[in-house]
Amino acid sequence: MTLLLKNGRIIDTYMNWDFTGDVLITDNRITNVGVIDVYPDDTKIVDISNMIISPGFIDLHCHLREPGEESKETIATGTLAAAAGGFTTICAMPNTIPPIDNPKIVEESLIRYDKDGVVNVMPIACVSIGRAGSILTDMHGLAASGAIGFSDDGNPVQDNDLMRQALMKSSHIGLPVINHCEDSLLSNGGVMNKGHLSDFFGLRGWPSLAEEKMVKRDLDMVASLGGFLHLAHISTTGSVDLIRMAKEKGVMVSAEATPHHLTITEDSTKIYDGPKMRINNMAKVNPPLRSQIDVQAIVQGLADGVIDCIATDHAPHSIKDKNGDFNNSAFGISGLETALGSLMQLVHNNFININTLVNRLTLGPYEVIKNTKIMRPTLSPGSIADITIFDPNYDWIVNSDNFVSKGKNTPIEGQIMKGKVMMTLIKGNVVFGNEVDQID
Ligand SMILES: [Zn+2]
Repeated sequence: MTLLLKNGRIIDTYMNWDFTGDVLITDNRITNVGVIDVYPDDTKIVDISNMIISPGFIDLHCHLREPGEESKETIATGTLAAAAGGFTTICAMPNTIPPIDNPKIVEESLIRYDKDGVVNVMPIACVSIGRAGSILTDMHGLAASGAIGFSDDGNPVQDNDLMRQALMKSSHIGLPVINHCEDSLLSNGGVMNKGHLSDFFGLRGWPSLAEEKMVKRDLDMVASLGGFLHLAHISTTGSVDLIRMAKEKGVMVSAEATPHHLTITEDSTKIYDGPKMRINNMAKVNPPLRSQIDVQAIVQGLADGVIDCIATDHAPHSIKDKNGDFNNSAFGISGLETALGSLMQLVHNNFININTLVNRLTLGPYEVIKNTKIMRPTLSPGSIADITIFDPNYDWIVNSDNFVSKGKNTPIEGQIMKGKVMMTLIKGNVVFGNEVDQID
């Protein structure tokens, strides 16, 4: 089977490509790129004029909920949502029931991903047994079974000695420890950013300091001990500054930011029913949405490479778990399907350029887990055809009823997005396609 994608803007930040041309796919691989006039007679031709074609997006951080919480999401629905969001490889966090904390569960997970997954899924395993924060997992065994990194995400690695042990192992294994930075004594049950809004609503605040203190600890430890550290969902100005300073000193560290921390603030926690203001549970997320100053710092960090990549932290929940009292409602945002639309605001507003955005969704995350079986995200001939095609100017309105994810929990319901994924290919096969005109 041959597929010719015609007249797209080809962006590949590994090859340093940004030009208009064609991409030819034969069976599972890209076989030619450029102006292609010669191709087999039975080639299927798709016109992608005015669209961008890039290597498939990689998401280092999502929650698929299966096994254990299939009412929130399954591997099937989560990976369909990933395909709709242009993600061809996603990394699943281990806070399932049971958690992915031994090699046998990694093996079982890989079988499930293979059977039900629409896109490539790579398992992240726990740092500690049961994510309980005390006993280190068999990191070597987990890596040998196919884990691509280690995280107790949802829970921070609070114990200094556990973090030391994990970092020491990570340097032998070559896979990252992915820490959710939150000093639990300082966040102290906080449910939203500590500031004027938490005061206004009378809710317990989760201060920036609680994140920054653990970012600082982790950076100090990796500077002193070595190891392979990746910092999850950075949310504050201070964290960006700390990572910037560490990188300038040559500390080996990588960091991610989510689409929501890059584009919306704690003000999304306010919602208006006519003139009446109320609190919006859909904006409850961990770490919390922060101030405009924090958003600007993270965007700047993304632009200059202090933040290496974008990760969705897709955290689907049932409406029942999100509703009710704000204090008891679940933390998390369903983010796979709105990621690109949200992020394109940064491009349309000239905060970052399109090449940087593509880089932070492809090569950036790849570099964090490149010591695994993951394929380098590139469109160069010979590569596996995992590809994303998006229209950077397509207007649409967020309607969670249309999400393929079971998680309808979004704080940007009803908002206008400019930029949409039109087609996602895995090994040359279209796994998501939308309104792309076919010539033949
Ligand atoms: Zn987390």
